Amino acid sequence: MRARKGFTYGVTQEELRRHNLSTLLRYVHEHGPTSRAVLTASMNLNRSTIGALTADLSSAGLVEEELPGQHLGAGRPSLVVVPRAAHVYALAYMIGVDFVVAARVGLGGQVLDRRELYRPRGDYDLEDVMGHLERFTGELLSADDIPPGALCAGVGAAVPAAVRSADGMLRFVPNMNWDDWGDAPLGDILHRRLMETFGIAAPVAVGNDADLGALAERTRGAAVGCDDVVYLVGEVGVGAGVIAGGEAMSGHDGYAGEVGHMVVNPSGRLCRCGARGCWETEIGEPAILAAAGHADGRRATVAELVAEATAGDEKAVRALEHIGSWIALGVANIVTVFNPSMVIFGGLFDDVFPAVQGQIRTNLLSGSLGVVREGVRLVTPGLGADSTLIGAAEKAFEPLLADPLGFLQQTARNSAVAG
Ligand SMILES: [Zn+2]
Repeated sequence: MRARKGFTYGVTQEELRRHNLSTLLRYVHEHGPTSRAVLTASMNLNRSTIGALTADLSSAGLVEEELPGQHLGAGRPSLVVVPRAAHVYALAYMIGVDFVVAARVGLGGQVLDRRELYRPRGDYDLEDVMGHLERFTGELLSADDIPPGALCAGVGAAVPAAVRSADGMLRFVPNMNWDDWGDAPLGDILHRRLMETFGIAAPVAVGNDADLGALAERTRGAAVGCDDVVYLVGEVGVGAGVIAGGEAMSGHDGYAGEVGHMVVNPSGRLCRCGARGCWETEIGEPAILAAAGHADGRRATVAELVAEATAGDEKAVRALEHIGSWIALGVANIVTVFNPSMVIFGGLFDDVFPAVQGQIRTNLLSGSLGVVREGVRLVTPGLGADSTLIGAAEKAFEPLLADPLGFLQQTARNSAVAG
């Protein structure tokens, strides 16, 4: 692109400026406080341009500049650009079959405050879950540490469901009360209730839990720098978020990655989806607990089971071996199809992984296809149990990060209309 005497080719100066503002804000959001010198080098722009961009973001209230803590070199210290985490935040929600989590996540990705509820599995209806989310949100928004004028930049919700990418509609929620959750326009419902109850008009994004876990792990977890990643999440159901060639693989409508419903055992148990022998009927939370004879167990029971096996309890060891063999079978299929450089074991699998990783590796390397599967790294989430929650926040921040000034102008217009 070239600009000459008022003529521009391809991209206008204003478009270029907006692009650079987005790149700079995204950089400090993902990398944390960064000196102007490092920004100058990594964005390949000159110092005065970085200074002007930083001034724009600073006067918009999105970043602030600080002197570096220690300055050892000669010359003037390079100012450090810091995302204003307390002033600019996202609301992140994680809805599961047996849990509801709500958090306030600051620009920069840090969880500032959270509320959570873990309870026995059950067919909780939409209104029940919305009630908890509303109560949690009220508590999060009335915290003393929120500075005046703070901006809620977006709302993200992670659900164990097939989410239609076009409009955020839940299309397939096999492990929740289908009559109630099926075809629920969750994004619209959240948007309306947050507006009515709290006056929050921020954009709402709804995503599949595994897809959001993959996004978070690649942005700031175990998979930073990896372009081919499979993030597996096991709860009551099982799903995968797949990143291929650096892009999230969503499928035509957004439903890709429903690996929990790969049929692995046609003579096995009936699945909540209606098919028989889906992978999640062999490795989901109910299957893990049933294998150990804890049919009425809760989520924590899985961690207890792993502890029993580690302590040498034979029944627990046998149960995990049984589960491990089914996990290994499915993982080998997934690795064969996607050739990822990394598979991340999230949710319950984070607990189970140490006990079954040997089986998974052995199975991957067996047979002649071992040579194409040997390079894959098997890891647990860098963000621990929070991958999905952080992923919901990442998705919530996206409109702001994509066009910071455009987003703020739109927000101002919306509040002028509302006011
Ligand atoms: Zn199924």
